[in-house]
Amino acid sequence: MKKFDEQRAFDLLGKIGFTRIAGSPEELKVAEMLKAECESFGLQAEIEPFEIESAVVEAQLEVLEPYQKTYTVRGYQCSESTPPEGLTAEFAYVENALPANLTDVRGKIVLGNGFLRVPQFRSVMKAGAAGIITIDGSLRDKLEETDLHQRKLRAALRAFGNVPVVMIRTADAMEIVAKGAKKVKITLKNENVKLTSHNVIAEIKGTEHPEEIISFGAHYDSVEFSKGVYDNGAGSVINMEAARWFMAHPPKRTVKFCWYGSEEIGLEGSKAFVRDHKDELKDHLFMINVDVGGPVLGYDNVAVTAGEELLHYVDYLLKIKGLAAATRQGIYSSDSIPFADSGVPAINFSRDGAQGASFIHNRFDTMAFLSAEALGKTAEIVLEFADTVINAAVFPIERKIPENIREDVDKYLYKKELAEAKEKAE
Ligand SMILES: [Zn+2]
Repeated sequence: MKKFDEQRAFDLLGKIGFTRIAGSPEELKVAEMLKAECESFGLQAEIEPFEIESAVVEAQLEVLEPYQKTYTVRGYQCSESTPPEGLTAEFAYVENALPANLTDVRGKIVLGNGFLRVPQFRSVMKAGAAGIITIDGSLRDKLEETDLHQRKLRAALRAFGNVPVVMIRTADAMEIVAKGAKKVKITLKNENVKLTSHNVIAEIKGTEHPEEIISFGAHYDSVEFSKGVYDNGAGSVINMEAARWFMAHPPKRTVKFCWYGSEEIGLEGSKAFVRDHKDELKDHLFMINVDVGGPVLGYDNVAVTAGEELLHYVDYLLKIKGLAAATRQGIYSSDSIPFADSGVPAINFSRDGAQGASFIHNRFDTMAFLSAEALGKTAEIVLEFADTVINAAVFPIERKIPENIREDVDKYLYKKELAEAKEKAE
């Protein structure tokens, strides 16, 4: 018997499939829609607010020598403002910021490939760059389809310093390098603001072990320009089907459903949940996360952020039920990270698109490459797994994070680098 209705899930996906960035009125609107959906089948839900840092940024980039041209850029939120007249400096292209790229960049404005990660940013700061340009999009994008996304210089990066940072289209970046830019000017004005984002939380009390909690997680926010159906309206509606199932079939253990806001700007919703539910967290035995789903051409994946025993169990269960998914033990870049960091093991389900047959974090993430049937493939895997563990006679998953996973979580959160930066600052 099927434990879900993929067409119903797909219809809901279409309804919430509009851009809903962290802290926006649209994000809140979808939170209210998810709450209303829960309540339509008798499940009470709460909307829990939390604060996020954001900023209003105006930015411009000019090449002054050996040619003159003004380029369209986006300024990074929370990056340093320039003086009103701008910051003029020599230009250097630093590729991937390897040591040999950074021998002579002190006081210069540097262009790097892609957007910044902690190790690169730290190196560029150490080398004394005065400003940073990053790139967005692809050379194949048509001008009118190249969306420069709003990004934020996250606190984890700012721990290593702060300079004006802007993002430019890939085609423009190539032109600047090819034409041999020597002197450039960045003008950036950043105004920090606080916004409110929201998690939607619902709970079904366990019939036999109400004190034991298993939570379902899926983020429902999207990035700018993206309708966010593949990432991650899909996970949101799959978990809604799970909520309907457990409402109709009361579970032995307490099941919590969490739809997280602001995942895309650094897992802010799940971090807020873990922080605001600290006392309750000791009762959370396990977390089930669903992030990306629905592509017609694709394949299912399971990442087990727990002991190896669970990996084997999942593998056997999939084979016994005839369900196809690749399995691995490891972390997954999503809302399961704050749980693992707090000692709660997790499992991550996703259906990833085949090469060239899916799009993420841009205007091409639309319903066009998704189907109800494909959504159902992941829903079936999630529910077959969840039903067995949540209703187990004895809960079989140890509440423990293995050493190798702990190391990966710490690496992912740049714990070592941040501790070093903090030590230096003191
Ligand atoms: Zn996602």
